[in-house]
Formats: sequence, structure tokens, C-alpha cells
Amino acid sequence: MTEFIRLSRACIGDEEKQAVLHVMSDGYLGMGKEVQLFEQELEAFFLKKTKVVCVNTGTSALHLALQACGVGRGDEVLVPSITYVASFQAIAATGAQPIACDIDMNNGSISLSDLERKITMRSKAIMHVHYASHVGDRSGIYQIANTYGLRVVEDAAHSFGGLNEVGQIIGSEGDVLCFSFDGIKNITCGEGGAIVSSDSEIIEKARDLRLLGVKKDTDNRYNGKRSWDFEVSDQGWRYHMSNINAAIGREQLKKIEHFTHKRRNLVNFYIECLSDVPVKILDLNYNNICPHILPVLVNRGQRDQLRKYLLDLNIETGIHYKPNHLLSRFRSDGCTQAERFGMMALSLPLHCYLTYDDIARITESMKTFFSIRKS
Ligand SMILES: *Cc1c(COP(=O)(O)O)cnc(C)c1O
Repeated sequence: MTEFIRLSRACIGDEEKQAVLHVMSDGYLGMGKEVQLFEQELEAFFLKKTKVVCVNTGTSALHLALQACGVGRGDEVLVPSITYVASFQAIAATGAQPIACDIDMNNGSISLSDLERKITMRSKAIMHVHYASHVGDRSGIYQIANTYGLRVVEDAAHSFGGLNEVGQIIGSEGDVLCFSFDGIKNITCGEGGAIVSSDSEIIEKARDLRLLGVKKDTDNRYNGKRSWDFEVSDQGWRYHMSNINAAIGREQLKKIEHFTHKRRNLVNFYIECLSDVPVKILDLNYNNICPHILPVLVNRGQRDQLRKYLLDLNIETGIHYKPNHLLSRFRSDGCTQAERFGMMALSLPLHCYLTYDDIARITESMKTFFSIRKS
């Protein structure tokens, strides 16, 4: 029996376990000091150019970022169809309508021409997804946003630890960025997310909205207290992060350079091994990013067979993503490239416990699959 190779998994050590035990014995499990420290450490990681608000999931981060930008009923938010359904649901949660945009087959990022074509009087924001950890034509997005007066919420769930198009740490610059620290992202809190911005109004709003809209409750919580006589004026949510999750995230953050190095090396070895395998590797600069997933494009009709072939050999793969505009809740037309991409994309295993031997086994299996089908 060969060992099962997982698509993705968290890389958790004794440090994270000890940190959780520490919170347990300290006795403050909810939102408190650990969350405050995690936010400060993230701010330092972003070179103190932005402020950070930690929440319970990446989806909550996107929802609150949009709400803080004033997005709501009657508004439209432009978003690439190739993304996790979380992006679409977060937009819909504000009452706004997600407008599915087509993508660029070369990198899986939003197509700027389709985006611009779909802007209307109702457009309020662009959700820019960092597909496969890459920021795409980010400066082009900001140019369009400036021209039409739109906010930009960057779904940076894939890209923590990487650099943007001008070599700055992702999260140190931009309108509003949202990260996810769920179980399989570049760093994990177990579950978690963060809203990042240099706009103090957005940060203030997000801080209140995560605590049911209770104004200025955050500072009390960080001092082990809470507000009893308080004011609420907006719809808020129960989206704050707990000390337990923050403690895990603080230990993970210390390891980000190691994780990034490891993930980049694995991807570079994959690229070497895939040189004579008939799949297309996306046109991304893998040396600037912290790669979260490794999607390749497989000729139509062969993707699902290859997926099954690999699974029979104990190799798990993924599909990032089924286009959202094909889901009944978000049904729309006119994203033909996204549909092609959704049928061809196959994500290969990528995580910090993967070995070069695993990659050799995966890519050799792929070679065998294609040679059987040729003869
Ligand atoms: C993971 C992910 C999210 C949501 O993050 P959660 O923490 O799982 O809620 C949003 N967008 C993308 C692209 C993601 O990969």
C-alpha cells in the first residue's frame, strides 16, 4: 500500500499545542490579550503601514470589509467567477449582488476588459481575488477603481506571506485586504481571518461590527473587561476571534518565512518534474509569492479521468474552482473563459509536509496516465 498524499494540510508543531494549553490554563478563552497581540504582530509583519482587525473566518472578514465600505442592498460588487464560493456569499450577505466576471486563462485572475464592461451605475466595489496567491494585474484593477470611483476589497485568502506586483509585502498597501487563517491556508489559526487597511474609518467600523456593533467594545475586551452600558447603531455580527485561535496564529506567524521557502521550493521542483507532462502551468511568478495551491490546466475531457486515476493511486487532488456563475444562487451568463478554466483546472497536492519523493511519485503517475492514453 502506498501512503495517501493529501491535497493540503496544516503544519502544526509543539509550539502551537503549547500555546493553546497556555490559553486554557490562563482561563480567558474568548477575545482578549492574545487577539490584541496577534493583531500587533500582524501589523509589524505588514511594516506598520496598515491596521489589522482579526475575526473568526476569512468569509467574515470579506463580509465586514464590504459592510464597512458601505456596500449594501441595491449595490453591485464585481468579482471573478473563479473563486471560492465564500467570496460570493460574503457579497450576498451584505444585500448586494455579486456580478460574476470572466477570467484570464493564463493566470486565473479577473479579466480587466470583462470587469470594465460590467461596471454599471450600481457598481460599488471590486472584489479582487489573489488567485493561487498571485495579485494578477493589480495596478490595472486600482486604475479602473479610481476611474469609476469604486472601492477595492482584496480577497487575499490565498496570498498571505507573498509579495505584490511591486515587491511589497501583501497587506502592507491597498484599499482593504482580507486574509483567511482557516485550517489549510498559508498560516492557520484553526479558523480565522483578518481585515487589513490603512483607512482608519474602515478599521474602526470593522472593530465594532465584529462585536455585534457594540461601539468601542474592543479596548475593554483587550483589558479583560467588557462594556455593560453601550451604544449600538448598526447591524453587527458575532465575528470576533478567540484567544485560542489567536494563540495558534501567533505561533504560525513566526514560521511564515520557513513555510514560504518550503512552498516555493516544492513548486519549483514540481515545475521541473512537469516539464515533459502535457499539462499547462499557470503564468505566475512563483518566486515572489507564498504559493497556497498549485493548479495546472489539463486538456478538456481528461481532467476528471486524471483526477480519478490519481485518487486510485492514493493521490488527492482538487478543483479550484467550479465557476460561481454556474451555481443556481449566482447564475449568470457570459463567463466563457471561466467555464473553460473550471473544466481544466486540477490542483496538485501542496503543503509543508509534502516531500520531493511525493512530488516525484505524483508527477510520474501523471506521466503514466498520459502515456497510457496516447498508446
Ligand atoms: C479560504 C477562502 C476564503 C474564505 O476563508 P474562510 O476562512 O475559509 O472563511 C475566501 N476566499 C478564498 C479565495 C478562499 O480560498
